[in-house]
Amino acid sequence: MVIRVSGLTVTYNGSEPALRDVTLEFDRGEMVLLMGPNGAGKSTLIKAVLGVVRPISGKVEVLGSDPVKDRSVRRRMAYVPQARSLNTLAPLRVRDLVEMGARLLPDSTDPDGGLDGRIRQAVEAVGLADRIDRRISQLSGGQIARALMARALAQNPEIYLLDEPFESIDAASEAMILRALRSERDRGKVVVLAEHHITDFSLFDRVVLLNRTVIASGRPEEVLPHLPSAADGHRSDR
Ligand code: ADP
Ligand code: MG
Repeated sequence: MVIRVSGLTVTYNGSEPALRDVTLEFDRGEMVLLMGPNGAGKSTLIKAVLGVVRPISGKVEVLGSDPVKDRSVRRRMAYVPQARSLNTLAPLRVRDLVEMGARLLPDSTDPDGGLDGRIRQAVEAVGLADRIDRRISQLSGGQIARALMARALAQNPEIYLLDEPFESIDAASEAMILRALRSERDRGKVVVLAEHHITDFSLFDRVVLLNRTVIASGRPEEVLPHLPSAADGHRSDR
């Protein structure tokens, strides 16, 4: 198992648990959709896997180590945030952003030899080759999302963690990102994508329905019938 989460409970400042007793495993070559209403704990779960939030009880294991303690394991995970989380006023070019990802990969594990090659490959995979010298501030939301995906690809990680990457982006960009993720999954990578909105279920090997705890986890067709109960939970939260 690449990611093993067992009995995970997380609270912020002693308030009600954001996650309660969550047990999940993610294996090589799996593309998983993490669904749940706002406040369900999707981002918290991703942060726990990244090792940036600590469990109050339970355990997170990534590639055999504790991501809170083992910083080297963090480099083997790529995190893709929402496009709008990026400060587009920064005078950053697409190339600079993607290079940040490429530099996280130790040279010894570079499959394609060379930083420039990896940067070029990554921007090509998301259709941004002709915009590599553009400033991020000149890009549309969808193009920023694709640039963030290219940064992740250039890192050549074992694990992709995406937190609502499709929030207010165009359908073509969404499709391009999903295609890139599918091909990474086919190479044995793990993909965990949190989305509040429903995308194309059929692209995923598994759907996890979360609402502070695991409501359902299984093949998309097994989990779909559980969707209304999660929505009810959301309504009663309000
Ligand atoms: P989701 O990503 O599914 O919307 P989150 O993981 O962001 O859910 O949030 C789960 C719960 O934890 C929510 O009740 C939210 O208010 C709370 N929470 C998230 N981050 C923090 C934080 N930094 N400080 C305090 N509470 C937080
Ligand atoms: Mg979130």
